[in-house]
Amino acid sequence: MHYVSTRGYTSNNSAQAPVLFSEILLGGLAPDGGLFLPASYPQVSSEELNTWRSLSYADLAFFVLKKFATDIPEEDLHAITRKTYTEQVYQNARADESAQDITPLRVLQEGDGRKLILQALSNGPTLAFKDMAMQLLGNLFEYALAKNNAELNIFGATSGDTGSAAEYAMRGKKGIRVFMLSPHKKMSAFQTAQMFSLQDPNIFNIAVEGVFDDCQDMVKAVSNDLEFKRKLKIGTVNSINWARVVAQVVYYFRAYLAATQRNDQQVSFTVPSGNFGNICAGHIARMMGLPIAQLVVATNENDVLDEFFRSGIYRVRQSAETYHTTSPSMDISKASNFERFIYDLLDGDAERVRALFRKVETEGGFDLSGAPGSDGDEFKRISQFGFTSGKSVHADRLATIRQVQKEFGITVDTHTADGIKVALEHMQEGIPMIVLETALAAKFNETIKEALGHDAARPKGFEAIETLPQQFVVMTTDVAQMKAYITQHVAPNSPAE
Ligand SMILES: *Cc1c(COP(=O)(O)O)cnc(C)c1O
Repeated sequence: MHYVSTRGYTSNNSAQAPVLFSEILLGGLAPDGGLFLPASYPQVSSEELNTWRSLSYADLAFFVLKKFATDIPEEDLHAITRKTYTEQVYQNARADESAQDITPLRVLQEGDGRKLILQALSNGPTLAFKDMAMQLLGNLFEYALAKNNAELNIFGATSGDTGSAAEYAMRGKKGIRVFMLSPHKKMSAFQTAQMFSLQDPNIFNIAVEGVFDDCQDMVKAVSNDLEFKRKLKIGTVNSINWARVVAQVVYYFRAYLAATQRNDQQVSFTVPSGNFGNICAGHIARMMGLPIAQLVVATNENDVLDEFFRSGIYRVRQSAETYHTTSPSMDISKASNFERFIYDLLDGDAERVRALFRKVETEGGFDLSGAPGSDGDEFKRISQFGFTSGKSVHADRLATIRQVQKEFGITVDTHTADGIKVALEHMQEGIPMIVLETALAAKFNETIKEALGHDAARPKGFEAIETLPQQFVVMTTDVAQMKAYITQHVAPNSPAE
């Protein structure tokens, strides 16, 4: 299995050796600015699906991943999935769920040939679905670095979810340090406590006196200093990382196998979406042959993706047009993984993909509606890929949280509520609709209180997280000071170079 860029790059060197999984594991964008995808999608046979029905999550993950990570020895990959997907890591299951299932399904509604199912993806250490991929990434990184006797310093900015998932995945890992910037006093008390209470010596929390955009600007400033980046082995773990996307493919297989008895049955998925990472994995599962009828994109008020799937027009937003909502992990101005789908929609025409995404930079978007003067007419092919979409706003979120509590007896988080609202608009007879639960309610308690008048239940061990001792440093937006801090902590026993 080798990888190509959505903008045409195919080889790592002049000898034309193709790009392999291990080579893109630690990286981000392809050298031409595109995103990596497999040269072709591996296919899954009906016989394979049958044998996969009885596997544990960890073993299923091995069989799915080995189709993509062909350059990692099978025993090693299997050991990594078995170490990652354990009952201990995904222990925050609800009392009536089986933690052993890792991503347990719950039937919310059944009748009239309609079936609504929730797949719990948020039982990992940070109570959000990003743990599903990030925990694997932590173990893959540690493995790859040990093999090459190398080190990596992850440097990133977070407004909440991604940073904590990365820290919990990388804590205590040999050869890895994490430097995570967050806006000082701007995260929720719960999120702050989650990150700052980590005492591991390889985790560095840096609270920046500014807003999230200031943190991101600092990451960019440091990343643009190529010499510094190389010398200090700086890397990132953003949502375009291929290994993160492919790790998410596994739970689509898992949900399908758990919700069906035979391979001639279909299911649909509704996915609360921001950067198009999660649902991109669903698209890949479908391209591999998993019988998925619909892939429903659910957005919040930041409806870049809903607009595209309704009109064929992709129009990124300015920051003034990007709203702070009560499902904040979907507050995006553009969808960083979207280029992967566009590449498939355009049948792998890298030339056109490059032109379209250049246009995103120069003109803020592109138009595939087929209207006179548009950039193409591929909008009419979207339904062949199963895609459709919907949108949910704050009032919908509150109403859905109340309705789910009343009718099904569980409290869902705000992002999942967006998913359920949109899923109910796309139900089809005879085809189960699976909504991905992307966080537990306790993480977004302010809105739960607004909807229900009481606090969300917290999983065991999180009751008093805000009272734990916190470890962090406060800094200004001074880039030179930031670089000095990193240098000092990367090589604490030797004078800074
Ligand atoms: C990150 C996140 C999302 C959006 O996922 P994408 O892969 O960016 O589409 C949705 N819900 C929650 C809780 C998240 O943390």
